[in-house]
Amino acid sequence: NFATAASAAPAPQTKPEILYTGLFINNEWVKSSDGKTFKTENPANGQVIAEVQHANKADVDKAVKAARNAFKLGSPWRTMDASERGALINKLADLIERDRTYLASLETLDNGKPYKDSYFGDLYASIKNLRYYAGWADKIHGNVLPADGKYFAYTRHEPVGVCGQIIPWNFPILMAAWKLGPALATGCTVVMKPAEQTPLTALYIAQLVKEAGFPPGVVNMLPGYGDTGAAIVDHPDVDKVAFTGSTEVGKLIQRGAASTIKRITLELGGKSPNIVLADTDLPRAVEAAHNALFYNMGQCCCAGSRTFVEDKIYDQFVELSAERANRRVVGDPFRPDVEQGPQIDNEQRDKILQLISSGSRQGARLAAGGGAAPGPGYFVQPTVFCDVTDDMDIAKTEIFGPVQQILKFSQFDEVVERANNSEYGLAAAVFTKDLDKANYFVQRLRAGTIWVNDYNVFGNQVPFGGFKQSGLGRENGPYGLRNYLEVKAVVVKLADKNT
Ligand code: NAD
Repeated sequence: NFATAASAAPAPQTKPEILYTGLFINNEWVKSSDGKTFKTENPANGQVIAEVQHANKADVDKAVKAARNAFKLGSPWRTMDASERGALINKLADLIERDRTYLASLETLDNGKPYKDSYFGDLYASIKNLRYYAGWADKIHGNVLPADGKYFAYTRHEPVGVCGQIIPWNFPILMAAWKLGPALATGCTVVMKPAEQTPLTALYIAQLVKEAGFPPGVVNMLPGYGDTGAAIVDHPDVDKVAFTGSTEVGKLIQRGAASTIKRITLELGGKSPNIVLADTDLPRAVEAAHNALFYNMGQCCCAGSRTFVEDKIYDQFVELSAERANRRVVGDPFRPDVEQGPQIDNEQRDKILQLISSGSRQGARLAAGGGAAPGPGYFVQPTVFCDVTDDMDIAKTEIFGPVQQILKFSQFDEVVERANNSEYGLAAAVFTKDLDKANYFVQRLRAGTIWVNDYNVFGNQVPFGGFKQSGLGRENGPYGLRNYLEVKAVVVKLADKNT
């Protein structure tokens, strides 16, 4: 749902220079202590882009020490005015905006998403999100409390401390921004681990952190695999972990965090229902449901991956959805007309193709696509399944690919029960012109976000997060600050008390 005026985007740099591939610790670039590296590849052609340093346990230890040191009492960061923290975050946003074309190009190279989406979607939203939280820095405060007795009581909202932040590959820059903004606005320090598939833009942003003037150790960036993430989660001197990724790894993180009762926030998977009623504006709903699923190659945690359609319009909806999917332009993500690039890697593509096979095997009808699209990269055809039933694997598993499931319903109470019958609860949507019907669903669906007559609408001011196994805590808005604050109650004895 971002603006996609391709003509207005500056031309991409199709071969952006790779400047940073190291570990960023204490505002310095270093190599991993055991010399291990890993390769990051361009999913549009499978070619290696760069070798990146792989942070190990000892490197994590070094980064956590740097972050702890930056958080020491009396440090430049702890003694800085809150307004100055806000100014630094704004400066970081300005630098990202200065280098927006380069960063959007690098994102497309490393991740495969269409350049126009990187530029108008990811970069736009990241800059705006940092500015939103920059504004919060000097507006975070405790309360004065009318305590009983001769006491003066108040709360201080203090930064939670050293934060481990582990992010996924589907929105690399945006997830870095969503995590950095609230952590820095509240005065925390950060050890971040980008996903192994997409480390490059986060590393460049680390250099911009230094250029903006953040004191050493406030932000540390450690590329690596799951072992690097686990070392952060297990580290006794990390106070909080924020994670976005799979529910499976989310459970490991919750377990690992228990060892020292770390604060955690988790933004995990989904199988979000998108419910289309017969009274809706049909062409609009078809287009919205298409984008709900196919945006970002289907690699969205909140993808509308169960499209429930009322029986009266079902056949027409299926026909129009298949037509739309067949028109979807797949190819080189740097081309301005391309809507869909490759999947992130071979492993994800194979998983998607296996799920497509299971759909056909279990009796769903293919209305569009159904296989790999021509390579050399990891492309998958825009695929639409109809006659999907709740028991099929494609109706239960998070596919994370360009595969739309269309299911039929006839009764509202029936579809509410089916929509809620999932271990997930990240997002949901309803399309109808009838306000009473919309409210019926708003009150009954168990999900962290409910969209009415639209999909994938995000606002920096609006909380995002999941019910059930879709996560813990909320990002964005003032709710997103809570995760990074400890509340300290202070009670002071008074000599006397008057109203
Ligand atoms: P993942 O959960 O394995 O990876 C996410 C991040 O966690 C990466 O940075 C990874 O290196 C790190 N990680 C992996 N194991 C870890 C561990 N034991 N301890 C700490 N950190 C660890 O996701 P994936 O394997 O890249 O993708 C698998 C599936 O996850 C996808 O098919 C999709 O269903 C889901 N996914 C969801 C999101 C989301 O935004 N909710 C994002 C990416 C993937």
